[in-house]
Amino acid sequence: MANYENIFKKVVAHCKEYGYIFQSSEIYDGLAATYDYGPNGVELKNNIKNYWWKSMVNMHENIVGLDSAIFMHPTTWKASGHTDAFNDPLIDNKDSKKRYRADILIEDYIAKIEVKIEKDCLKASKRFGDAFNKQKFITTNSRVLDRQKQIDIINSKMNAFLSKGNLKDVKKLIEELDIKCPISGTNNWTDVRQFNLMFKTQIGAASDNSSDLYLRPETAQGIFVNFLNVQKTTRMKIPFGIAQIGKAFRNEIIARQFIFRMREFEQMEMQFFIRPGEEIKWYKYWKDFRMKWHTSLGMGEDNYRFHDHETLAHYANAATDIEFKFPFGFKELEGIHSRTDFDLKAHQECSGKKLQYFDPELEENYVPYVLETSIGLDRMFLAILSSSFTEEKLENGENRVVLNIPPILSPIKAAILPLTKKDNLPEKAREIMKSLQIDFNCQYEEKDSIGKRYRRQDAIGTPYCITVDHQTLKDNTITLRDRTSMKQERISIEKLHSIIAEKVNISRYLG
Ligand code: ATP
Repeated sequence: MANYENIFKKVVAHCKEYGYIFQSSEIYDGLAATYDYGPNGVELKNNIKNYWWKSMVNMHENIVGLDSAIFMHPTTWKASGHTDAFNDPLIDNKDSKKRYRADILIEDYIAKIEVKIEKDCLKASKRFGDAFNKQKFITTNSRVLDRQKQIDIINSKMNAFLSKGNLKDVKKLIEELDIKCPISGTNNWTDVRQFNLMFKTQIGAASDNSSDLYLRPETAQGIFVNFLNVQKTTRMKIPFGIAQIGKAFRNEIIARQFIFRMREFEQMEMQFFIRPGEEIKWYKYWKDFRMKWHTSLGMGEDNYRFHDHETLAHYANAATDIEFKFPFGFKELEGIHSRTDFDLKAHQECSGKKLQYFDPELEENYVPYVLETSIGLDRMFLAILSSSFTEEKLENGENRVVLNIPPILSPIKAAILPLTKKDNLPEKAREIMKSLQIDFNCQYEEKDSIGKRYRRQDAIGTPYCITVDHQTLKDNTITLRDRTSMKQERISIEKLHSIIAEKVNISRYLG
């Protein structure tokens, strides 16, 4: 098994063992691509949401929030293009009867070439030692250049075929590259077909077509149809944004890689309404802003990259993905799209209601352009967990697993641990717990040896352990242990609040 697969398996098992993520309906053997967030998972998820909301809404005077319904009038999806064009190209292997997304089969093929480039770099870095310059190597080494050329050709062919809906050529490309089904090992493929990703349901008891409803496949449309409600009630002037966090549903053809691709997931989206013609300025602004938001968490700048789109969705005139280095390679974490006036105009036409803004400076009415930032909350969760999962060999020969989650996002900020269950230590520990829990999520634990309790908190990613011992009763001091360095310090109880507050203060990150 490749090392990355091994690490990914460990992360998945760790999520279950420490109450982060459970398979949905597990007692019935689960439901494919659906997951439940456990006690630590829901805390981490809420902390990610808060971190996003704070930086996008609370720290921008001109961005406000919204929580729109999951069900929307069915015409919404006609207008947005989802009924006609929200399709993925699917292909089946005739021998294994397994179904795949044709574009993902090709992308996985490209990813394998990327892995080869990484290996070339690794080999060269060993050969050249300190003198190795990766940038120079990948722009001059003939083998790497050949591989990159191959990637570029495949990419441009795939994009051209997909954008023209040329599914026969997509199949031909799969055959040309001799892509085989990982299960049957054969290239006995069916034709490529389009598959609509929306989940259909019905309202009330009616069964005629007009009452077909869809579970929303994105949160964005709830923002567009409320554009004037929000603008008028908040008296916002363009440029301004509307942000929303909520569930979205897609009947993904293949849902794999744990919470990376699910059928029910959560998005954090912001639609920024601007003057027509100013979209490139704002596109650059939000690209830069969103990348800074990611790197502010300190999970390593090398883990992120932009992937600018060559083929654009029907609604966009510029688009990029922020990709994250997941254990299975660089994959999309967030999309930034310049959506022009496509959505508002379409809703205007389909509803017959004007969705225009009167610009007092220009003294004219227009349909605003829109810049969108759209991040998957669950993918963000996976990015954090997979990059913070660390296995360490300690000096005493023991192994420890630690989640080096950015402290501001850690589910539990401090664990309060009485050394023993007697001699009034639990009472003292609970007193400390009471003084901290109003501001920080804390956990009280008295079971097992102190060493075992430290390991458990390391595995959950708790930045601080506070140990209460007999000396605490005498001089009001405790031992404060830092998760990452494992350093222990004797400090006075009075200082605890400010030490933790300093560690998880948002201005340390976003200031
Ligand atoms: P992909 O190409 O991976 O299918 P997408 O380009 O269709 O994603 P968008 O429509 O741009 O995704 O959605 C915005 C964000 O929502 C994505 O960047 C991703 O983080 C998240 N997302 C999309 N689909 C899923 C899914 N099935 N499960 C979890 N998160 C998702």
